[in-house]
Amino acid sequence: MRPPAGLNPRFESFFSGMDMTFTRIPVAAPVLDGNERAYVLECLDTTWISSSGRFIGAFEAAIAKATNTRFGVATNNGTTALHLALAALGIGPGDEVIVPTLTYIASANSVRYVGATPVFVDCEPDCFNLDPALIEAKITPRTKAIMPVHLYGHPVDMDPVHDIAKRRGLMVVEDAAEALGAAYKGRPAGSLSTCATFSFFGNKVITTGEGGMVVHSDESLDRQMRLLRGQGMDPNRRYWHPVIGYNYRMTNIAAAIGLAQAERLEHHLATRRRVAGWYDQHLAAAGDLIERPIAKNWATHAYWMYTVKLARRNGPSRDEVMRRMAEVGVETRPMFYPVHQMPPYRDTANRYPVADDVSARGINLPTHGLLTEEDVARVARELIAAAA
Ligand SMILES: *Cc1c(COP(=O)(O)O)cnc(C)c1O
Repeated sequence: MRPPAGLNPRFESFFSGMDMTFTRIPVAAPVLDGNERAYVLECLDTTWISSSGRFIGAFEAAIAKATNTRFGVATNNGTTALHLALAALGIGPGDEVIVPTLTYIASANSVRYVGATPVFVDCEPDCFNLDPALIEAKITPRTKAIMPVHLYGHPVDMDPVHDIAKRRGLMVVEDAAEALGAAYKGRPAGSLSTCATFSFFGNKVITTGEGGMVVHSDESLDRQMRLLRGQGMDPNRRYWHPVIGYNYRMTNIAAAIGLAQAERLEHHLATRRRVAGWYDQHLAAAGDLIERPIAKNWATHAYWMYTVKLARRNGPSRDEVMRRMAEVGVETRPMFYPVHQMPPYRDTANRYPVADDVSARGINLPTHGLLTEEDVARVARELIAAAA
């Protein structure tokens, strides 16, 4: 079906084949307008399509440089990057890792994959990140690490996290999947801890289709991660496997896309920040219907998602607001459900009132580089109409 008149022409390919009766604004969309095509064609033309080739090392180096770290270890997605990081750090059965309950499920799942137990903490009401003041009460003799997650692109308040980690002898593993380009007190997300992981899923700040990476600055950790990523094969003896590893390698094709994306990282971040600025302006008219996202004075926000909270307790429910917006062609997405509410992790012994509350009221608005100011103004108008 031909896209209807008035559709932003840059959305046409995104929507071709969809049955559409009106212009829809998607919540996320990749922007692939750099060297992606040329680099992928180079993979095909040279037949370097599998997990060796020039783009893998180049992409790893580009992300390490962007995050001010020494090493990048590319993986086939962000979840395997987290698993690889925890496995390489030697976290395993009997250990505990402190994880925010308000996060994407992969943060907690990766802890389970190594046989350890995620111990949840509640979040801060304003920027939704784990509340450092609540960490210490969750530490036990089994705690090995803290996993701060820079949710929706806003960095975690890392100084208090590091104070606790140092005092209690814990490692810190940043789940920076949503925060490439964010910074804490001027230092890039990803450079702030023992190691950090990124995701390059199709909706993230930059994408490789599916992909991930661990970044860090420790030579022996680097050897361990590369060993585990490549089936545990001895780098000096082919088909000799001293440990049980995984096949978590990234393909050269994915890395080709990633390198082209990384070359334009500053541009991709600038367009996201411009979208956030437009939302701030156009949502000023919302008055006290919603709460807009904040950036702490020490934070450089990557705006993976522009997240609002419905503020009127007696207004329409979050799901109702999302339904009304979908009806008029604006795709939104609910804030993550806190992990402690999910069946595999159900925790009724402890309370997480802030996460329960913000999760029930939070909506992510379309946030990506293809949006025009007109699109943003329309989303803002529809949100205000739906929430009133
Ligand atoms: C996207 C994401 C991941 C996992 O990434 P995938 O590439 O989808 O496996 C992990 N943690 C957080 C917080 C994420 O947003």
